[in-house]
Amino acid sequence: MPEPNALTGAQIDRAADRRRRDQGWLDAQQRDPAARALLLGDAGVRASGAALDLVPLADVLPADAEAVLLGLDDAGPLFVVDEDPPPAGRRAALVGAGGMRGEPAPQAAGRIGLRAVAQELARGDGGLVAYAAALLNWHRATRHCAVCGSPTGLAEGGMARSCPVCGTVHHPRTDPVVIMLVTDGDRVLLGRQAVWPARRYSALAGFVSPGESLEEAVAREVLEEVGVRVGPPAYRSSQPWPFPFSLMVGFEVPYAAGAIAGTDDELEDARWFGRDEVLAAVEEDAWDEEAPGDGLLLPPRSAIARRLVEDWARR
Ligand SMILES: [Zn+2]
Repeated sequence: MPEPNALTGAQIDRAADRRRRDQGWLDAQQRDPAARALLLGDAGVRASGAALDLVPLADVLPADAEAVLLGLDDAGPLFVVDEDPPPAGRRAALVGAGGMRGEPAPQAAGRIGLRAVAQELARGDGGLVAYAAALLNWHRATRHCAVCGSPTGLAEGGMARSCPVCGTVHHPRTDPVVIMLVTDGDRVLLGRQAVWPARRYSALAGFVSPGESLEEAVAREVLEEVGVRVGPPAYRSSQPWPFPFSLMVGFEVPYAAGAIAGTDDELEDARWFGRDEVLAAVEEDAWDEEAPGDGLLLPPRSAIARRLVEDWARR
């Protein structure tokens, strides 16, 4: 069995059942002396070295703060508290990951930014932080009711928000993104964005549109991005991607027809790479600008794109 993807594997009972709809049970979790909080904010998650800094919930919860119940683990109830709730009326930054337009996250001692948790923490802890960050990003973006505009309040221990004026209940979003490796025998089609380190290429990816199957999204995105037609995709694996609350769904898809045509706005370049060239990058673990030579650079090891490319190259 291959290792599961980074940002998965949280060891927690999410209590995503009737317990969350029982206010008495929720109050008891919050009063439990064993209740702990994970602290997440604009600069990332609080940690000491490679260990998460969990603190007693009672120590960090002022009366007006919202504590979101992540669930129960072996030590008791575990909450997440947003250390930097955004001011009213201001577009919120991504938890631990900077601005929506790529502005970098602030750095702070004793905190790990969200883009580094997969390298710095054990996989299950990375999965826990990804879960907490995706949920907090949604809370930050859902402070007002989409129906009537009134401020919303926490419901179901944070697995929902409800509107006290019109009664609408809002549930957390997870936005599916297809990510696909287009293969043709011993070659793969990879693309690059202008903001990446020079020489880095990766699998193509894009958001699923409303009313579209994953298979249709794969075919449409490949055609839009590089002008190539593909056959039926084969599912490989998936990965939570809390920037802000996506789910990457990974496929391999066979090339069918067409030549690479001018790439769309998202890509700077796209081209075919032979298996030998990809395998050489895999074996050298070439992914950042420090890598010697002038060959292909791969996506970072924590990304599902790297997994797709590596598994194909080694097969
Ligand atoms: Zn409302």
